[in-house]
Amino acid sequence: MARPSKKRRTLASVDRRRLRRDATYTIPELAEALGVSVPTVRNWRRKGLEPIDDNVPLLFHGAAVKDWLDLARASRRSRCGPSQFYCFSCRVPRVAESGSLRVLQATSRTLRLAGFCHHCGGRMSRNFAAAAGRALFARQGQSDLAVSGSPHLEEQSARGPK
Ligand SMILES: [Zn+2]
Repeated sequence: MARPSKKRRTLASVDRRRLRRDATYTIPELAEALGVSVPTVRNWRRKGLEPIDDNVPLLFHGAAVKDWLDLARASRRSRCGPSQFYCFSCRVPRVAESGSLRVLQATSRTLRLAGFCHHCGGRMSRNFAAAAGRALFARQGQSDLAVSGSPHLEEQSARGPK
């Protein structure tokens, strides 16, 4: 009956059902609700989990966190990195050719991006959490993202290691 260690919990084992879609959470509240450490949540933030705005303390929508966790888990399943697409020609995750990204569809929570495989030139597309998709655009130097509402980019703070 040892309780699972809080620090050992991974993205895959986090129980998203413990979040309420209509609630808002601070970082410590998210950590508490999901049974992970505060540094883990900060790490998610660096990986693209987006707060409601820049006001401190940062607040996160339960619904947005759930969606982000779903997408993060899905991309992990296909072994795509946070900025990779699955290329059906190469049959492995690939990065998009620089400058080739286009927005196919945008909602408040997700971005469907298309690009061309850096390796074979094949067409690739994938859904990203909105923040992750915008961060990818920013890294590729494509800041002219035509999304209604034009959310502000946080290139300097969102840029994680690789
Ligand atoms: Zn390819």
